Amino acid sequence: METLTKGKEYVPQAAGLKQGSKGNDVVCLQRYLSTFGYTESAIQSAFGVAAGKAAVPAPKSGVFDDHTTQALKHFQEFNHLPVTGELDEPTLALMSKPRCGFPDTRPDAADFVLQGNKWTKNALTYGFQNFSPDLTQAQIRSAIQQALAQWSSVTPLTFTEVPFASTPDMVIRFVAGDHGDGSPFDGPSGILAHGFYPPPNGGAIAGDLHFDEAETWTVNLPPSGFDLVAVALHEFGHTLGLAHSTVAGAVMAPYYAGAHRNLEADDIAGIRALYGSGTRWYGWESLGGVLASGPGVSSWANGRLDVFVRGTDNALWHKWYQGGWSGWESLGGVLTSSPDAVSWGSGRIDVFGRGTDNALWHKWFA
Ligand code: ZN
Ligand code: CA
Ligand code: ZN
Repeated sequence: METLTKGKEYVPQAAGLKQGSKGNDVVCLQRYLSTFGYTESAIQSAFGVAAGKAAVPAPKSGVFDDHTTQALKHFQEFNHLPVTGELDEPTLALMSKPRCGFPDTRPDAADFVLQGNKWTKNALTYGFQNFSPDLTQAQIRSAIQQALAQWSSVTPLTFTEVPFASTPDMVIRFVAGDHGDGSPFDGPSGILAHGFYPPPNGGAIAGDLHFDEAETWTVNLPPSGFDLVAVALHEFGHTLGLAHSTVAGAVMAPYYAGAHRNLEADDIAGIRALYGSGTRWYGWESLGGVLASGPGVSSWANGRLDVFVRGTDNALWHKWYQGGWSGWESLGGVLTSSPDAVSWGSGRIDVFGRGTDNALWHKWFA
């Protein structure tokens, strides 16, 4: 659903504008650059972005001047486009894509960009001021929970839904057009949503998320509209204190990239720099099966586990984890002990057990 949205009053109609160009299309270009934080405007303070960090001074309206060129170069640099300072086709194509309404801020050193403030507690609440008619309330709740589970799984943060009347830390709204916060939505596509930094930025609106009700929201895969889980995942990054990332493929990159529902390394590094990793014990969880012995376990790679047990048939049984758990697989043999397993290199496993003859028996994977 990478719909082009030429014709919005902040997206230029045609490529080819460059220094010295004049007219209404230059006005559109300048609106785009100010809307997304590349020139000084009220947008920075609306979203609590440090003034002067991102923006060049406001250009002369309708004239492609030095400030316009400078801001356009910053836009191209941020988005890994050729830095031409002109409105060429690749630049216009990107400007026509749906994205987040939060302004971009130029990175300093780190890939992920910290805003510098964060919630001062780890147990956060959220609540719905209203829902979208596009989906059932249960579907919307489930989508929001999926997005929040991503952030809580890599931090000490926890999220609990409370009624709107209980003043949640993070209020979720579906709104169209001008909705009273100085950052109006724009009809279908274009700007999809925006989120506000944690307090004290913005007063009561701090921590809130707004979704453009003009969009068709979906939770289907493949999406039949804009994926609510992916957009919520991104917007919660802002409400937790992250700015836009320049890393292509990061959840916190500003442009919509389909049903991208899991955090990437850059996002995890960013949120952990704010809140820590929240490393802790999980479980117990049952992995099923019927064991006639204790388990033997080995790992031959990061994220890989191999578990061996003796089944009720006294054969060696095997189960492994790589992104998720496999089923049980019989490896045969007749054991009279628990198996033991070890790995001395990638792709290598050695398993040992006692046979019915009381000898040591060995099986290996290589
Ligand atoms: Zn954003
Ligand atoms: Ca929109
Ligand atoms: Zn809003």
